[in-house]
Amino acid sequence: MKRLFIVANWKSNVTIQEVNSWLLQLKNSKWNIENKTIIVCPPFTLLSLLKQRLNEHKLPIEVGAQDISPFPKGAYTGEIAADQLAEYVSYVIIGHSERRKYFREADQMLSNKVDMALQGKITPIFCVQDATTVVPRDVSIVAYEPVFAIGTGNPDTPESAEKVSMRIREENKNVRKVLYGGSVTDKNVNSFISRSSIDGVLVGSASLDPVTFSHIITNA
Ligand code: PEP
Repeated sequence: MKRLFIVANWKSNVTIQEVNSWLLQLKNSKWNIENKTIIVCPPFTLLSLLKQRLNEHKLPIEVGAQDISPFPKGAYTGEIAADQLAEYVSYVIIGHSERRKYFREADQMLSNKVDMALQGKITPIFCVQDATTVVPRDVSIVAYEPVFAIGTGNPDTPESAEKVSMRIREENKNVRKVLYGGSVTDKNVNSFISRSSIDGVLVGSASLDPVTFSHIITNA
């Protein structure tokens, strides 16, 4: 049985006040996490609090970051370096299409981010928009997220996602896991997960509702 990765990307959402209620609602929902790694990626402002609260509530959820500095620790105003992130997270999303689009992140910078993450012993979850996106050599987890499907309610088909996943693996021999992301819901999650070459999902909007997220975890 393959181990599934269910990753929540909160983007620039959720405040300190909201995080407690999200956790309590998730805790009170019924969810089956057998054979699943659940990773929640909050904004930087919530990393410390979320980690602390997950421990207090004994919730088997890992914390991830949504971004990482392409530089080491030092004089890089506004950036969070791998050494600093490693105090909180085991995973980091790199190359999300919103970073590429709004912050002009391109292949070389993304490759530097992957290097920094790996040096800090943080596993990159590297987002690609299709099978032609450049994947840095040592990446082992890729999330296929077609731009047309992100936040639109218009997911790719499981057949197409499976084909892209197979091509990504053919072209990037170090890739071990391919996740699908783009308008994943509790209703469609299983149609992606049931494809043999899809190892999990990256969930944006639907992860903001803890009850829906618990259903996604259970239905995966
Ligand atoms: C995302 O932005 O990574 C994403 C998958 O968003 P959504 O689930 O809202 O489409």
